[in-house]
Amino acid sequence: MRIALFGPPGAGKGTQARLLVERYGLRHISTGEILRAATKARTPVGLEAKTYYDAGHLVPDAVVRKLAEEAIAAQGYDDFILDGYPRTVQQAAWLTSFLAVHGKPLDAVLSFVLSEAAIVDRLSKRRVHVETGENYHLDHKPPPGVDPALIVQRPDDQPEAIRKRIQVYKAETQPVETYYRQRGGLVEIDAFGDFETVYQRIEAVVKAHAGSSSVLKP
Ligand code: AMP
Repeated sequence: MRIALFGPPGAGKGTQARLLVERYGLRHISTGEILRAATKARTPVGLEAKTYYDAGHLVPDAVVRKLAEEAIAAQGYDDFILDGYPRTVQQAAWLTSFLAVHGKPLDAVLSFVLSEAAIVDRLSKRRVHVETGENYHLDHKPPPGVDPALIVQRPDDQPEAIRKRIQVYKAETQPVETYYRQRGGLVEIDAFGDFETVYQRIEAVVKAHAGSSSVLKP
C-alpha cells in the first residue's frame, strides 16, 4: 500500500502516520523528520535545511526531492506512508513520474481538513520528546512525567514561525490538493477530534484501499 498524507501543519499527519505504521506495518517517510535527523547529524544538507524550516519556510524542492526519493527507493517503492511530501505542485509532479517509472503509483492521498484556529492551537501547544520524536499536546495529550529537558517545543512551533508556515501552506502547498483532486485519488479526512476518532476515519479509507489497485492516474 502506498499512501500520502496531505494537509496543513499541525493537522496530525505525523501522529496518524505513526498509528498506521504500528497497525499496518507500513514505513513512515516524513521529509520533516529526515531533515531534522540530517540537521542533528550536522550534514551540509541538514544544516542548510535548518535555516529554512526554523523560519517556517519550505526547504528547496530539489533538496527534499532527493531525500524523499532515496527513502522511497530504500523501502522498495512499496508499503509506505508519505508524510509532508509532496508539499508543492512541482514535488507532486516529480513524485508521480518517479513512482510511475517503477510502476508503483500512489493508492490514495488522504487530505486532512482542519480549521485555522484548530491548527494554531495544535501547533502552539505541541511538545516533542527529543529522543522518541513522539508528539504531545499540552491539553489533550500531556507529555509524560520525564526529565523536562527531554520535552521541547520545536522552534518552528513558535508564534511567528506558525504564522509563516500557515501563509506558506496556503500559497505553495494547498495547490497540491487540486493537483491530486484532478487525478481522482484525493480523499478528505475530517482531522478535528481526538487522535483515535480521526484514526477510525482514516482506517475506513485505508481498508477500502488495501489490496486494491491504484486509484491515482499519472
Ligand atoms: P514537518 O515535520 O512535516 O512539519 O516539516 C518541518 C519542516 O521541514 C517544514 O516546515 C519545511 O520547512 C520542511 N519540509 C518538510 N517536508 C518538506 C517538503 N516536502 N518540502 C519542503 N520543505 C519541507
